[in-house]
Amino acid sequence: MQKKMNEMLNEQMNKELESYYFYLALSGYFFQENWDGFGMWMLKQAEEEKEHAMKIYRHIIERQGTVTFNGIPKPTVSVKSPLDAFEQVYTHEQKITASIHQIMKAAQAENDYPTVVLMNWFVEEQMEEENTVDGIVQKLKKIGDSVQGLMFMDAKLGERS
Ligand code: MG
Repeated sequence: MQKKMNEMLNEQMNKELESYYFYLALSGYFFQENWDGFGMWMLKQAEEEKEHAMKIYRHIIERQGTVTFNGIPKPTVSVKSPLDAFEQVYTHEQKITASIHQIMKAAQAENDYPTVVLMNWFVEEQMEEENTVDGIVQKLKKIGDSVQGLMFMDAKLGERS
């Protein structure tokens, strides 16, 4: 694997680990606020992010590359409401999607087919995640300040397995 590709994949692996921390911090916020369903959803998401990092980790190792860890910055989470949190998640995932697309572009330009195959998975995953989170954001907008509505959503999202 090319050195430049190894570096890009390392950056992405570190971003996925940062995402893991980001979602952990959000789950902590929700559990503290007694929104256990939202907290559970964020915790599940955090676990998925760790899996994303490990997917890239394994790819780098299998390609005889080198894994390097940047150190994860302290996540700064300031949340006003469930809607605010999910809007932040949407923005976050859009940034991740953009960096996945950059790697795909570079992998295609280098004819690095194994990385193209890996990125295919990530492109689909990002599409799915953005779609899911957008759905939650739109529902939360309809719910507004309705406590009953929020409690319903909290219970619903807590079902995520
Ligand atoms: Mg991810």
